[in-house]
Amino acid sequence: MMWKIVRWDRIETEPIFERHLGVHELLVMLAPPKPHCAFGTACDSRPEGQERGPDICSWCKNMSFDALYKRAEAQADTRLLKRLIDAWMHQLERDNSERIRRGWPCLCASKDPEYRFHAWRRDFNPKDSRLCGTVRHRGQLCARCYRTAQEQECTWLAEFDGDRYGFPCVFEDHRLRRPVDANWKIGPLDAQGHPDPNWEKDPRRHGRCERARFKNQLCQKCFNRMCEIRGFGRYFDTEWGMLRGGMGV
Ligand SMILES: [Zn+2]
Ligand SMILES: [Zn+2]
Ligand SMILES: [Zn+2]
Repeated sequence: MMWKIVRWDRIETEPIFERHLGVHELLVMLAPPKPHCAFGTACDSRPEGQERGPDICSWCKNMSFDALYKRAEAQADTRLLKRLIDAWMHQLERDNSERIRRGWPCLCASKDPEYRFHAWRRDFNPKDSRLCGTVRHRGQLCARCYRTAQEQECTWLAEFDGDRYGFPCVFEDHRLRRPVDANWKIGPLDAQGHPDPNWEKDPRRHGRCERARFKNQLCQKCFNRMCEIRGFGRYFDTEWGMLRGGMGV
């Protein structure tokens, strides 16, 4: 607020206080800055657009990069707009890598550079000027984006496990901890009746699983470890690493 930056010892000399302010002037002074957008009348945040300003507004910044570049193409000042979009992209890249380095909460998946050219991101427009929240896991949507995607009945939510992109690897899926799952978790036995030590995931030796693209699928890491083991195809399909239907799923 304006008042806080005025130091008491400066009040006498601060030029703005040299004259008496009317209530109206004071209110104008205290009002938040007028919204503006570099897209001007082509900004979709209001039917009449926004006053042209030096930066892209927060409503437009919630759009996908595809949509932003496309919109810039249709304007007279394409080059300037593209520079602003590039700068916004670089800002997100820096923010993202700093968060990872410092172990801070992650960017919402809709702001994460990792997903910026994914089909689901391309199709998503929150149509909202509020900023994204941060999230616990990479690939997770913030509460606003998740709620909005549900309200907009976005079909791409099928690629999400709730608010998280992708699915847990079958070895980390808590739905697959039934007695029947012991069978595929141990896998094929050799002539002596021993399982292959590289089959079942051991967090101490194999580290953390990655996310899988589909439900009931091996993550890439587990797939790479297991796919050469004899008998793999009995349990998982050999192309995608999906758990076979006969395995209780
Ligand atoms: Zn805008
Ligand atoms: Zn978000
Ligand atoms: Zn895995």
